[in-house]
Formats: sequence, structure tokens, C-alpha cells
Amino acid sequence: MKFYSTKNKDHQVSLKEAVLKGLPPDNGLYMPVSIPKLPAAFFEDLKNLSLQEIACQVSSAFFGGDLSDDDIRWIAEDAINFDAPLHHIHDSIFALELFHGPTLAFKDFGARFMSRMMSRLLQGQKNDVKILVATSGDTGSAVAQGFYGIEGTHVVILYPSGKVSKIQEQQIATLDKNITTLEVDGTFDDCQHLVKKAFLDMDLNKMLTLSSANSINIARLIPQSFYYFYLYGQCRKLNSKDICICVPSGNFGNLTAGLIAQKMGLPVYRFIAAVNANDTFPKYLHSGVFKPQPSVKTLSNAMDVGNPSNLGRVFDLYENNVVIVRRYIDSDSYDDDKTRKTIRQVYDSHGYILDPHGAVGYSALVEFLAEQEHNVNGVFFETAHPAKFKDTVDTVLGTDIPVPSRLKRFMDRPKTATAISSDYSAFKDFLLTSFN
Ligand SMILES: *Cc1c(COP(=O)(O)O)cnc(C)c1O
Repeated sequence: MKFYSTKNKDHQVSLKEAVLKGLPPDNGLYMPVSIPKLPAAFFEDLKNLSLQEIACQVSSAFFGGDLSDDDIRWIAEDAINFDAPLHHIHDSIFALELFHGPTLAFKDFGARFMSRMMSRLLQGQKNDVKILVATSGDTGSAVAQGFYGIEGTHVVILYPSGKVSKIQEQQIATLDKNITTLEVDGTFDDCQHLVKKAFLDMDLNKMLTLSSANSINIARLIPQSFYYFYLYGQCRKLNSKDICICVPSGNFGNLTAGLIAQKMGLPVYRFIAAVNANDTFPKYLHSGVFKPQPSVKTLSNAMDVGNPSNLGRVFDLYENNVVIVRRYIDSDSYDDDKTRKTIRQVYDSHGYILDPHGAVGYSALVEFLAEQEHNVNGVFFETAHPAKFKDTVDTVLGTDIPVPSRLKRFMDRPKTATAISSDYSAFKDFLLTSFN
């Protein structure tokens, strides 16, 4: 399979180049030149397939020409080694729990899959690829955990000192082996600036093979489609109603993976993109004009995005035509006040604890279904475990919710991060002395 840039369909590259470069030089986004249709037998059989089996079959459809069957099976099965169960909340409303991976958020799917795919694409290469990642918290923990111990890769994570949560810092800054963490005396923007400068530094690039692991990498996007097929199978076990899927969205990677699953043949009645006060997308659907906004801080902070980076792919899928986009996707925005009320109400009425992101998703789904004549199953994504946002959840509910052991075990580990200034020459020196 080749991949083109959304800014120039004639610019086509191999899987290896798309995955290792991450971004095309023209600042577009890589997309597969064709989206494979899966056979009818696959859909008929979905309710009998495990998530891992689905992961293998979907991966083969995309990557079968580039990787061996054995490699694909290993990547898919080793990466997706946890479940994504459908949890019934009430009536025809379900949560798809995407937080059963090691860092308790759905980003584990993409990060674990991408790391293993990079490792296989680099097989036989003499030098490790050095993956540079700037993080404001969540992405860094999924990437660090995802790449931990993966052959052929060495990850350097930069985070702003004092500006990530305690839990996030413990997950990023306490690893050894092939993970190096730098605690930068500066802001997230400083971290990002250091990484960008390193990629443009010819001198450095001659000595080290650099790559990025950012969220728009195609190898992070495709694995997020697996659980859409899986949820369809779970719903089919219950009844044959049409399915509405509501995705709490920030950079719109998760939603885009669903749109791709639909193009592969998955029957979806309607997608709903639930957003917080960062409402660029519903405004675009309404007005037809896309206008990025500065991001604003909310309780569902992984969705605090004013210019969602995957929208280029959404526009590409629907011919840059808002009339077509509206046919497939609805969208609405919910503020922090509504988020708190929803967490409270769903706990009181149904005993289910939502995290702030899931709460935005639940609100959008319930409101959409209330206006529907058609009787459907509604599935919203619970993108993070509520314990990841323990402060917010406990404050709203007056609880002291338990922290799962896979998160707790990081809490007492000693920090291994190296403190550096935000000065580029210090960063470059560090890379050259560590890796040359
Ligand atoms: C990243 C993230 C989101 C947003 O996902 P996108 O793919 O960026 O739209 C939602 N919830 C949680 C918990 C996240 O970490």
C-alpha cells in the first residue's frame, strides 16, 4: 500500500516512509491510496471474532503487501493484548471502554501498534531509530509505555518541568531501557521547538536516524479502527438495530479511524463528534466555514484543541465538501458545568463512573438520540479510566475512587529523568553524547 499527502495526491510514499517520517514534507497528512473493502463474510462473522483477530484481519488488508503475515500477526496480537468491552449503561446506551490498556486511555492502541510496526519495518537496520517526542502529558505516557523494550527503537521524551500531572510524570519519567526522558526547564512549546529544530538540523540527521511518534502518524490511526468493528460484533450479539457511535474528540484521530472503518464497509448509522468548549468543528458543520480557534482549558483536557490536526483527513475523505461531511457526522459542544452534572447524574442514576471525556461523549449521544425517531443502539467511547482524572471525579462525586494497580505500580518508582535547559545546543549535545 502506498500513502499520499492530503496536500498533494501525486506525492506518494511507501508504508515505511510514511510511518518513519510521520508527516509529508508539504505539511499535509498521509492517507492510504485506497481504503480496502472487507468481504461480507468478515462482517457476518464479526460477532464471533476477538479484538485481536479483528486487528490481524484489518491490518492484513492495509499492510499485507508490505509486511509478512507473521509480522502482521505479531504486531497486532502483541500490541492489542487487552480488551475493549461494551458496557451497558441504560436503555439502548452503551459505553465502549477503551481504557483497559497499560496507561488507561485509548492512546495505548495507537502507540503500542505503531512501536511494534516501526520495529518490524526497521528490522535488519544497523542503528536504532531515535524517536523524539515532545509531550504535555498524555501522549508521552502512551508512547513511553508503548515503545518500552521494543527492539530497534530508542525514545527520547521531552516534557515541561512542573507542568504535567504527578501520575503522568511517573509514567513518563521513571522508565529505563530504551526510554530516555528529559525534564525541560520551560513550557510545552519549548519542548516542541527543540524537537522541531532537531528534525531540521542536517548535521544531527547525518549522525542519527530520527523519527517522530506524533498522533498523526498513519500507524497510530489504523489500529484505532479495530474497536469499531469489535463494537459492531458486540452489538450484533444483542440485536440487529442500527448503530450510532459518539466519539469524544480533540485532534479527531479517533473519529477519523471510525470514518475509515465505515469506508471499509462497516455499517454505521451516524457518527457524533462530541467536543468540549473547543468547538471549532460543530461551528464548521453549522457555518460551512472552517476557522481554527485558540484552545481553551477544560476538565476534559485531552480534547482542548482549537485546530484539530486530523481534520485534513476528514476533509479529504469527503471531498472537502461540508454537505457530504454533514451526511456522516453530527457534532455538539458541552461545557465543564454540563460535564460535572453528567458525571453526577450518570453515577446517581446508573452507578457508572464517567471520566470527563466520556461524560462529554455521553451528553452528546443522549441529546442526539432524544431527537431521533429511529430506534438505534447508541455507543459512546469511554476514552480514559476515571482514575486518570481522579481529582475531578472525586470532587464531583465526593468519592475516593480506587486507582487500578497497573497505574499504581508507577507511583513509587524513582524518577530517572534528566533535567535540561530549553537551549537547543544543550539538547543537541545530550543527543550526541548519549547516542554517538
Ligand atoms: C487524546 C484523547 C482524546 C481525543 O482523541 P482525538 O483522537 O485527539 O480526538 C479523548 N479522550 C482522551 C482521554 C484522550 O486521551
